[in-house]
Amino acid sequence: MPLGYTGKILRIDLSDGNIKEENIDQVFMRKYFGGKGFIGYYLLKEVHPDVDPLSPDNKLIFATGVMTGLPVSGMCRYAVGAKSPLTGGYGQAEAGGWWGPELKMAGYDGLIIEGKAEKPVYIYIKDGDVQIKDASHLWGRTTDQAQKLIREENGDDRIRIAQIGPAGENLVSYACIVNELKHANGRTGMGAVMGSKNLKAIAVRGTQKLQFKDKEKILDIARWFSGYFKKNPLTYGLYNWGTSGGLMNFNKSGILPTRNFREGSFEGAEKIWGKTMAETILKKREGCYACAIRCKRVVEVDREDLKVDPELGGPEYETIASFGSLCGIDDLGLISKANELCNKYTLDTISTGMVIAFAMECYENGIITEQDTGGLKLSFGNKDVVLKLIEMIAKRQGIGDILALGSKRAAEKIGKGAEQYVLTVKNQELPMHEPRGKYGVGLAYALSDTGADHMQAAHDTLFTEEGEVLDSIKPLGILEPMDPFDITEKKVRDFMYLQFLWSFYNMAGICDFAPVPRGSMPLEKVVDLMRAATGWNVSLWEMLKAGERGLTMSRLYNIRCGLGAGEDRLPSRLHQALEGGTLKGQKIPEEEFMQAIKTYYAMMGWDKETGIPTKEKLAELGIDF
Ligand code: SF4
Repeated sequence: MPLGYTGKILRIDLSDGNIKEENIDQVFMRKYFGGKGFIGYYLLKEVHPDVDPLSPDNKLIFATGVMTGLPVSGMCRYAVGAKSPLTGGYGQAEAGGWWGPELKMAGYDGLIIEGKAEKPVYIYIKDGDVQIKDASHLWGRTTDQAQKLIREENGDDRIRIAQIGPAGENLVSYACIVNELKHANGRTGMGAVMGSKNLKAIAVRGTQKLQFKDKEKILDIARWFSGYFKKNPLTYGLYNWGTSGGLMNFNKSGILPTRNFREGSFEGAEKIWGKTMAETILKKREGCYACAIRCKRVVEVDREDLKVDPELGGPEYETIASFGSLCGIDDLGLISKANELCNKYTLDTISTGMVIAFAMECYENGIITEQDTGGLKLSFGNKDVVLKLIEMIAKRQGIGDILALGSKRAAEKIGKGAEQYVLTVKNQELPMHEPRGKYGVGLAYALSDTGADHMQAAHDTLFTEEGEVLDSIKPLGILEPMDPFDITEKKVRDFMYLQFLWSFYNMAGICDFAPVPRGSMPLEKVVDLMRAATGWNVSLWEMLKAGERGLTMSRLYNIRCGLGAGEDRLPSRLHQALEGGTLKGQKIPEEEFMQAIKTYYAMMGWDKETGIPTKEKLAELGIDF
């Protein structure tokens, strides 16, 4: 009997309504673990690189991990993958919340959705019973409305729902999938793929208990961690101030993306960071499944000009920076409203803020005019336009129809030199971390399988000195502090080892904020938990190798889709001087950076020029199908 996982995935063809269960054996599970391991495997095997991402031939894969659903802080994640409509290659986005554990308790480690339904439908899975149900009455509804209706018509308030809103239905290239109204599979446009299949929602209810090898050991570690995390400033900071607790430090260090990455410090930072939120609009702290850290925020705003519904959560750091400093906005209430709207319409808050900031810079330089915007003045800091633009993008109205393409494709349509204000890698907009102050994040952006992504590896600024955080990753062989401005072989090696670890966390279903180095669960406890869950005698080495395998498979898929060495580069602005803030004048040296990319290829066992994994490397990783 499988321990820690269910051993079953569900394949649902929406074109003909066929539903079938497939078994996954222990060797498969221990090799791929879940998350991007599953997604890479099924994309490589089943989704031809020429497939149009929004056609019925694309497949939408929901993958939990072997640790998803352990009753321990951070063990709640799942990933959704497909060929991405935004990047044209490997697409994947992770989320927390409760949906992943619920799917496993309903009997499945993952879902593969194929084809396209003739009319809108939703899938309802209850303890192994699977139905495809009519969703005509839900199409066009926002997430809060749809969730209420699905729960009512199935007579169960505890159904967990992952769904799309109007942005997904309207195929916005960076539409996301949202579960429980506030946890987003944010990046690479997975909501658009779901919309292209006429699939509104996947509603799940599971009451089966997961089986573990040593449940007592798991509970012991869970109880220990629920006290221990408070002693660690990183995890206790997450509890106290949420993910935006570091915003003021970023601002002081000159790495807070401001006005479309022109500057690195924002004069209104103090008004929008986590402590200000806690002292003003914070209603409560919430957590994902079984998590004691509770870094999620719930806010309520009740102003004359603005109301924010706490049911849709509250903004995290990425959202605060993307609608805040990046657009020159210092109104936390308005940023919270932008977050609420994105959760209702299912828009990725990072790409949405970035697309708006891009449009603002175009407007300030006369490339977009009021004639194009229907009279909106898109200047940085103009509070009146952000919420309107979100609506217009989700509904594809006016200039929103062009901005819904993503900033790269929008710039191609707009012309007139708009391209110079685009900040994307592989067509995906940059997250809210300034690589000119931490070169390792530049490597993460350029080398990420999904386009610009900050969740590839822990950031260099965590490890600038000796101490507890550096000690926590010494078992990886990273023994000395990092200089954020170093881009030599040493930085590449440190980045690569950390990337293996974070890739493994993704595959196993573990939140990066719970274990070290960003969190405080020691690596040996993560190994103990995996052993206690599965009964396997796994080692840290095996886990890191699995992480490397996941990264190599997503690389292979990108190579097949035509995304190779030519796409592993940063937008030109990052090689130009920052215009403001503490790091004014700082830039990433381009030649040294491109040399570091080649060094990475060689360290990964990829061809040094083309970045294609060698046959020998594939054999070493057992990628032999
Ligand atoms: S640390 Fe935060 S995001 Fe991670 S599982 Fe806990 S509550 Fe969720």
